[in-house]
Amino acid sequence: MNKSSQIKVRVAPSPTGLLHVGTAQSAVFNYLFARKNGGEFHVRIEDTDEERSTKEFEKDILAGFEWLGIRPDGQIRRSSDNKQNYRKFLEQLLESGHAFWCGHSKEELEDENKRQIENKEAPRHVCGHRDEERKEGQVIRLKTDSSSTREIVFNDLIRGEVRFRESLLGDISIARNLDSPLYHFAVVIDDIELGATHILRGEDHISNTPKHILIYEALGRPAPTYAHLPLLLAPDRSKLSKRHGIVSLNEYKKDYLSDAVLNYLAAISHSYDKDVLSSEELIEGFDISKVHKSGAVFDIKKLNWLNSQYVKMLTPDELRAATKISEIPDAAVALITERLEKLSEAGEYDYLWREPEYDKSLLIWKDSSVDAVLKSLKETKELIESFNYEDGKERFRKVLDSLSEKTGDRGLVYWPLRVALSGKQKSPDPVDIAFVIGKEKTLERIDSALRK
Ligand code: GLU
Repeated sequence: MNKSSQIKVRVAPSPTGLLHVGTAQSAVFNYLFARKNGGEFHVRIEDTDEERSTKEFEKDILAGFEWLGIRPDGQIRRSSDNKQNYRKFLEQLLESGHAFWCGHSKEELEDENKRQIENKEAPRHVCGHRDEERKEGQVIRLKTDSSSTREIVFNDLIRGEVRFRESLLGDISIARNLDSPLYHFAVVIDDIELGATHILRGEDHISNTPKHILIYEALGRPAPTYAHLPLLLAPDRSKLSKRHGIVSLNEYKKDYLSDAVLNYLAAISHSYDKDVLSSEELIEGFDISKVHKSGAVFDIKKLNWLNSQYVKMLTPDELRAATKISEIPDAAVALITERLEKLSEAGEYDYLWREPEYDKSLLIWKDSSVDAVLKSLKETKELIESFNYEDGKERFRKVLDSLSEKTGDRGLVYWPLRVALSGKQKSPDPVDIAFVIGKEKTLERIDSALRK
């Protein structure tokens, strides 16, 4: 592909909040689209709202993208670096008569809005003061034709043909003044500056697109190709928000591997032919026409499952790094990774590397007597003392099973042993634990149970 036809896409988060998983998902789709098509993926921080934008939010957003491994091409861009262009293009539109200083007072706009709501019309402003002298407090609007019968049509790569009636848009406010553009204008100028060829963004922006197309037209520029991505939804199919749980991407770090989250975000709204995909496979199999039209309910169970699949692939060093628990012995890794869904749960297996603490009453199996438990633990201890660990787990189990048969109650053998080794009511098979911690520690833990 030559330079001029090279695909360029961007994600344009506003640094007015922590990185939302939905924005992360848009970024992932842009990244995959660019990588699949040999194009460029850019990150532009859309800091046009100067009051609400902060550097902390920007940092959080960039850290989230980095964690997901979706590296942008070139420098991070910021809308605030593009101010001269805003002024230049605003002047161009004012001079060409495509834009005007809107002379309406706030009260007049409110009355207009009230009337439209009462008449069940689309809320919009059709200005009757277009040619007045410029006054303090005016905004700049793009002129539209409210009597036009024209439809603005674009071919959305995911949704197909989308149509909007120009007459319903009203005059579009594009700037507070020559140096403070509003979103609709800033985004168009920023995308022109970047040379964006495709705009892949959330479906919630679909009604903005005809406005942006009109701005491109007024500037005499070709509009990019659009694709409106399905949203991540709450179980009630509303847009996912804080009240539904975690929406800030960086909060997932403590529980999930970045590969699992990347896989999840990419595949939840795109059909792939298998579930667990490396980032190379995500790119290779990406096809914008396979992105779903309707939003997907955020399914935490699916994410947990995917994460568990990635956890199973971790090496001992990777597991220690991911869980930030350096004490995990190599021998314990398989036992943990086979079971772990969330990284933060790894600490629950600490008995695999540390003497457990528990209340002695936990050692009692159902309604058995203290004496019966003591007797069972002593017999278990004796069996283990004379057992050679090299004979293997199966043999070990058989030995314990023969003791169970003798006592006539399996629980009376396995329960106190489980508690002595793990300090917990629920744990992996005590035989597995015994093999992780080794013979010496197994005997020590039975001894300390006996002393309790
Ligand atoms: N700043 C917008 C958002 O975060 C992105 C707009 C766009 O992609 O055009 O939703």
